[in-house]
Amino acid sequence: MFANLSDRLTSTFKGLRGKGRLTEADIDGTIREIRRALLDADVAVPVVRTFTGNIRERALGAEVSGALNPGEQVVKIVNEELISILGGESRPLRHAKTGPTVIMLAGLQGAGKTTLAGKLAHHLKGQGQTPLLVAADLQRPNAVNQLQVVGERAGVPVFAPEPGVTREGERQRGNPVKVAKKAMKEAEQRQHSVVIVDTAGRLGVDAELMKQAADIRKAVEPDEVLFVIDSMIGQDAVATATAFQEGVDFTGVVLTKLDGDTRGGAALSVREVTGRPILFASTGEKLDDFEVFHPDRMAGRILDMGDILTLIEQAEKAFDQEEAARMADKVTKGEDFTLTDFLSQMQQLKNMGSMKKMLGMLPGMGQMREQIENFDERELVRTEAIIQSMTPAERDNPKILNGSRRSRIASGSGMQVSDVNSLVKRFEDAQKMMRAMAKGGGMPQMPGQGG
Ligand code: GDP
Repeated sequence: MFANLSDRLTSTFKGLRGKGRLTEADIDGTIREIRRALLDADVAVPVVRTFTGNIRERALGAEVSGALNPGEQVVKIVNEELISILGGESRPLRHAKTGPTVIMLAGLQGAGKTTLAGKLAHHLKGQGQTPLLVAADLQRPNAVNQLQVVGERAGVPVFAPEPGVTREGERQRGNPVKVAKKAMKEAEQRQHSVVIVDTAGRLGVDAELMKQAADIRKAVEPDEVLFVIDSMIGQDAVATATAFQEGVDFTGVVLTKLDGDTRGGAALSVREVTGRPILFASTGEKLDDFEVFHPDRMAGRILDMGDILTLIEQAEKAFDQEEAARMADKVTKGEDFTLTDFLSQMQQLKNMGSMKKMLGMLPGMGQMREQIENFDERELVRTEAIIQSMTPAERDNPKILNGSRRSRIASGSGMQVSDVNSLVKRFEDAQKMMRAMAKGGGMPQMPGQGG
């Protein structure tokens, strides 16, 4: 996510570090590099102009010249301006005061609307809502099916039209406005608290598409119309967003495919150009690859300051509280940490999602991008397979793992004996660390942590 932009900006700031004073030429040089980095990331030209203009004005002002550390002051200004173009405060989803909250999704075909519909439903369900997904995308032949698959995965019902049969025996497309209206009745009758309406997209913006979306909007009177935009569409982002704003108008934006090797320009332009807040971000194809959008956290990630808050939230969601309490209890009582515990911790770690994504949220990780890219997610799966091939007695007491047991486990898990050996060794190291923690009453000092 924003890898290139992030690298360029952080290396620009490196040049300022340690300077006692910044001349106007220093500042102009920095601004020039920021401008180039933004343009290369496909940020819209007017946005780049406003952004760099604001930075220059502030950097030349008293804020920087009077500062003890002008370089840091410039980073601070860039951070604040980034937060500002990303929208400032995060804006929560609006809910209806009475009746179901209606959320309508609009955007080009392939932007990720249907995928997002499932993620949003899953997210809202996690908050205790009872969403209904509505398939009002009757253009693309497979769209209704796709939404049904997505709904099944999220465990959320889908309202879809019954396909009629024309005289020629073809499937009738039906009328999306009627479908949406029927769905609203259904939602009221079944007391769904949220209705998510997926609409049709086209490859390009066209009048018919806009009219249909506008008609659906009129019919369902949504609390939110979310414009879903692929972060990878580059300079087209502005034209597309403007067309949708004029054609349907929307109350918020969702950025998708932020996980890709994207230049991210759309993300940085769309809020500034449309004045509409970014509410969510989609970061992959899985149901959990979804985040509430926080401008400050996103700016932190772009400037490689990390995003600890999102990391903590994801950990809280993934970790089983009871299990965590049980582990903490074990550690304080000095009980032995077993391979069963090891397995359970690993599975919880897996619940948190991609390791790469998590590592990327740590501050300063931009410099370790290559190592992160090389991180092999399958390692967790392999470790799990090995432990699952052990008997409960072996998991509780790995000391009994002699040669023949190890080779049985290796063949049971489809691994080599050397893999089993290395896992047992790693486990023993972890066990030692847990014992030290129990004795010392806290985390042992990690190497590299000064103190
Ligand atoms: P729609 O036409 O707007 O409904 O778009 P879809 O939901 O069908 O998505 C189009 C393609 O993009 C599908 O292959 C999705 O799996 C993929 N996709 C959607 N969201 C994301 C995302 O956040 N990251 C990645 N990598 N792929 C996505």
